[in-house]
Amino acid sequence: MSIDFGTDIYEEPIVAKTFLSEDAQEGSLRPKTLREYIGQEKAKGNLAVFIEAAKRRNESLDHVLLHGPPGLGKTTLAGIIAAEMGVNIRITSGPAIEKAGDLAALLTNLNENDILFVDEIHRLNRAVEEILYPAMEDHAIDIIIGKGPSANSIRLDLPHFTLIGATTRAGQLSAPLRDRFGVTLRLELYTPAELSEIVTRSAGILNVSIAPEGAMEIARRSRGTPRIANRMLRRVRDFAEVRADGVITRKVADEALRALEIDALGLDPIDHRMLHAIIENYGGGPVGLDTLAATIGEESVTLEDVYEPYLMQLGFLTRTPRGRCVTRKAYEHLGLGVPASMADAPEQLRLN
Ligand code: ADP
Repeated sequence: MSIDFGTDIYEEPIVAKTFLSEDAQEGSLRPKTLREYIGQEKAKGNLAVFIEAAKRRNESLDHVLLHGPPGLGKTTLAGIIAAEMGVNIRITSGPAIEKAGDLAALLTNLNENDILFVDEIHRLNRAVEEILYPAMEDHAIDIIIGKGPSANSIRLDLPHFTLIGATTRAGQLSAPLRDRFGVTLRLELYTPAELSEIVTRSAGILNVSIAPEGAMEIARRSRGTPRIANRMLRRVRDFAEVRADGVITRKVADEALRALEIDALGLDPIDHRMLHAIIENYGGGPVGLDTLAATIGEESVTLEDVYEPYLMQLGFLTRTPRGRCVTRKAYEHLGLGVPASMADAPEQLRLN
């Protein structure tokens, strides 16, 4: 049997920020308690205190804003908060709430202390957002009944609830909305050691045999993101079952990921196109995000939300007021000659 493990057998790139059909098993991989939630020690530590305090006072938890790149565990954390608080959670997203009435219906159906999770909260429309202000602050909403001169506004009391908002871009949230969150937690990219623990845990749940070095190889190449690590694990498992004896060793992981065009640091063909475009078309930068996106035929938001955080963490890309620039490290990783201007620069300036 011959199977082509190139990227074309999978419809979407492994870094896709949208939900893929292959993520259907994600539910079973989601940790259910703070204890099982690996990494993010700072966010977890703060949350544990807030949860304990709210439980002792028998109150709802303050509104929580979670921000960070896609796939870092914001939805998972919201579910864990609900479980730890012992309350129900309703899950929705900014673009799904089209009218003020949709939000009113969601809010009036909550029970005391319940959690409303709104993913992509920066995409709420203005009219909906304005209903949210009094709901978050005073646990009430004003509903207009009727039209024209006979219109009447009535105030409806709501149960005490907790809003958990998730966003990939905290900067796009309006100031009045941002100010109404009592707790703001920023999720960070995970370290390879943490990701290796996540891969090992997921392999256990999926009944996949994996050697510690195999888990580490996937971890190192999953760009700091648990969702990508889990996707890689599933794709590498397919490879291991067909090409090897089913066990994911370091060699099997390396071969499978190479076949998927993921390089040793986890960069995929789009990362490579981005870096090459900046170097070859714009002399290493600076180049504006929109220009860069148009050059390589990708959307600016995808580059900004999905690709840039990791390239910046690796120190391959910097954001300057005049645009994006690649660094000396990027030239070296791509095996390109470092331009004389960079090679001559003092060490502090080279390492951005
Ligand atoms: P987000 O909402 O930030 O896009 P999710 O909460 O949907 O991300 O997480 C994506 C997947 O990654 C989940 O299915 C979960 O299995 C896994 N995951 C995320 N964070 C962790 C973690 N800290 N520990 C273990 N698994 C995690």
